[in-house]
Amino acid sequence: MATLFEKIIAGDLPADIVYRDEEVVAFRDINPAAPVHVLIVPVKPIPTANDIEEADAALIGRLFVVARRIAADEGIAEDGYRLIINCNEHGGQEVFHLHLHLLGGRPLGGMVKRT
Ligand code: 5GP
Repeated sequence: MATLFEKIIAGDLPADIVYRDEEVVAFRDINPAAPVHVLIVPVKPIPTANDIEEADAALIGRLFVVARRIAADEGIAEDGYRLIINCNEHGGQEVFHLHLHLLGGRPLGGMVKRT
């Protein structure tokens, strides 16, 4: 069954798309955790970070190149931002189609709660 993000990439579900090329699509998170919250998604449906293969190295690199471009376009590059990939249950992953979160537009504070 197609993931939510495959449906967005195919245009079957609406999204605020900010970038698209043959390999990568980026759109605004529906429930933003910061003033800028963009999800950068490979068109190839890799479920989790555990499923990244050697052959995906260039594609994964492209996610970061696109993130850098969007950060500049959104005007948050100089102040700074955070890039996150959540993996599986402990990482808090909800959508099993690999994606890079670009978060910024305010100070983001500490990374994780220390327990
Ligand atoms: P994860 O927890 O898997 O790393 O992140 C999934 C993200 O997808 C969450 O931040 C969530 O708000 C976002 N999301 C879930 N459903 C939708 C949707 O239908 N459209 C968009 N644009 N974002 C979504």
